Amino acid sequence: MTGEQSQLSDSIRRLTRRVERERAARKEAERLLEGKAMELYRANLELRQLADSLEGEVAARTFELQSALKEAQSANSAKSDFLAMMSHEIRTPMNGIMGMSQLLELSGLDATQRDHLSMIRKSADDLLGLINDILDFSKIEAGHLSLDFHDFDVREELKKLTSLFTPAVTRKGIGFAMILPDNTPALLRGDSMRMRQIFINLISNAIKFTDKGAITVEVGFSEPSDGQVCLTCAVIDTGIGIPENRRDRLFKAFSQVDVSITRHYGGTGLGLAISAQLCEAMGGGISVESLVGHGSTFRFSLMFEPAVEGIRSAPKQNEVPLGGLTALRVLLVEDHPVNLTLAQALLKKLGHAVDVAENGRQAVDLVKTHDYDVILMDVQMPVMDGIAATREIRNLTLLAQPPIIALTANAYTRDRENCLAAGMDDFLSKPYRLEQLRDKLLHVSVRPRDLQ
Ligand code: ADP
Repeated sequence: MTGEQSQLSDSIRRLTRRVERERAARKEAERLLEGKAMELYRANLELRQLADSLEGEVAARTFELQSALKEAQSANSAKSDFLAMMSHEIRTPMNGIMGMSQLLELSGLDATQRDHLSMIRKSADDLLGLINDILDFSKIEAGHLSLDFHDFDVREELKKLTSLFTPAVTRKGIGFAMILPDNTPALLRGDSMRMRQIFINLISNAIKFTDKGAITVEVGFSEPSDGQVCLTCAVIDTGIGIPENRRDRLFKAFSQVDVSITRHYGGTGLGLAISAQLCEAMGGGISVESLVGHGSTFRFSLMFEPAVEGIRSAPKQNEVPLGGLTALRVLLVEDHPVNLTLAQALLKKLGHAVDVAENGRQAVDLVKTHDYDVILMDVQMPVMDGIAATREIRNLTLLAQPPIIALTANAYTRDRENCLAAGMDDFLSKPYRLEQLRDKLLHVSVRPRDLQ
């Protein structure tokens, strides 16, 4: 073999070995690739199974949460219904207690009896305050709070508050001052009753938790800007104060600083929660600063609009004499025996003539055959309720339709709206005072037959 030939054969051998090595390497690479592809396939499979089970879990959890939400919503609405029902049930006997006490007050009593009666009245007022707080709280919780916008006399409202608290601070021997700035507007537009409620809550607390020193109420007003006026107020007391670690809970419902304090001072723990919600609803806020043993300062702000209509001149309570009014022929529709007796006695005191129906059906029958100047209609009654009776009366062909005033223990705005939607003209909620009943009837005119 020549040298060239042996070189060629070496090259061929090397080439063949290389080709074999590369083939082996490719095979190894293919094997590895296959292994990796298999791993990937398995991982993908596992991932898909995991995703499927996760989806299943999410769906199950969503279903659980939806059912829990539904349950919570229905429990909440059951609670609201229960509170509305309880409020009605409590207001009905309260009307009897408060009304009968007022009737007793108007009869000849000696000093001791008068004293006892005033305690009954005070307890009944406290109880009513409590019921109103619970009702307010449930209204706010259910999102049913509605504000009643009207023009009001600012100085007059704040002056009334000072006279309201004068007896309590005098009894406790503490000072009280309300400071109004020079720029106090004459009139503002907003919900003066809700504003009053916040003032009353904070000032009552200040008095309750202060045994010596004074309560100062500092009021301020911003200049109108963007069609709004901001009222700011600081209620400053020199009372027991509130520990720092309890302050954040103060504006939450049912929270009281200390159970032993509560036992001593009483209260439900709702006043501040309601006040905070009212401030928020009226575009403002509330906060507190306090030093234990030295006193507390509660600050709040409320937004109002400038007045537009001016005050409507309604006859003031006690301005119109109780007797000597135009005698009306009244149909009283009421099923509750105590409230029936009470309303009859009050109407008699006002000099009106009264016919009685114990349910809506009887009322409709009486209206067909008698002329009434006005109908006072309870709402919840057996046989036929006040709403159905009003609808039937409004569908009767009468010479003239009498005004119908609801006289009811339902105190929600939607109850008032239902009454008006059924065709009633006005609404008086129980418990009511003689003066309120008188004022409702003041605008009723005697039907022509009585003038002939
Ligand atoms: P209530 O007074 O009916 O219990 P509030 O919501 O008005 O309910 O008050 C909650 C708690 O806050 C009170 O029980 C009391 O512990 C505390 N508190 C409120 N105002 C004052 C105050 N001016 N000084 C001291 N403690 C106060």
